[in-house]
Amino acid sequence: MRKKIVAGNWKMNLNKSEAEILYNDLESKSYPDDVEAIIAPASIYLDSFSNASNVSISSQDVSANSNGAFTGEFSAEMLSSINLRFAIVGHSERRTFHKETDLLIFQKVEMLLKYGITPIFCCGESLLDRESKNHFNVVKSQLSQILSKLSSEEFSKIVIAYEPVWAIGTGLTADPEDAQEMHSFIRSLVFEAFGSEISELISILYGGSCKPSNAKELFSMDDIDGGLIGGASLDSESFEAIINSF
Ligand code: PEP
Repeated sequence: MRKKIVAGNWKMNLNKSEAEILYNDLESKSYPDDVEAIIAPASIYLDSFSNASNVSISSQDVSANSNGAFTGEFSAEMLSSINLRFAIVGHSERRTFHKETDLLIFQKVEMLLKYGITPIFCCGESLLDRESKNHFNVVKSQLSQILSKLSSEEFSKIVIAYEPVWAIGTGLTADPEDAQEMHSFIRSLVFEAFGSEISELISILYGGSCKPSNAKELFSMDDIDGGLIGGASLDSESFEAIINSF
């Protein structure tokens, strides 16, 4: 049985008191036993939320380096020292604005696995890629490092988030059938690389304007195991409704 996951990416939003209000609200709710609810606040708040019990806490990123002269960065070891269990890597905003490459993202994944932190690995095509019918190739190439270089044991610890870039923060959502088609394609790549046990085990989340009104339909698809939520995770009622959409 695959794990159902709903992760909220708060991005660079909310001042300290706003973040605390949302966190306390989400911590006080009860969620279905079979769904892991995760929130990814800005890094400066991670430590103060690390004792959460109802929601899990994720970083939005990590350094690919272990320590040293990397001003402004924070390491996987630091995340592990505050008991964090998850970190998002390869988000399209980091790929675009910080020019992150597949190799750099792979190095981040390795670093997280070394410290026992689950990477939430993002991939997804641009509108141009989809319009030119190149979306499967793009996603395959984004996944190629983790598919070819990780052991099956390492890969089994990863969560994948498929996030078509054209759907992130735009209000446009992939059709459930189109999203399912890509999720099933990703699972088939995992099957080719690691076999059926791992491909059936791995959770693949959908991200891109997921909200209470479309989450149920998306989550009902065979290969969609939950969501990575941006905008709608900043409102506790919306986020709770999405978590209850399975
Ligand atoms: C995201 O940034 O991961 C995301 C899915 O954002 P939104 O839900 O706002 O499209």
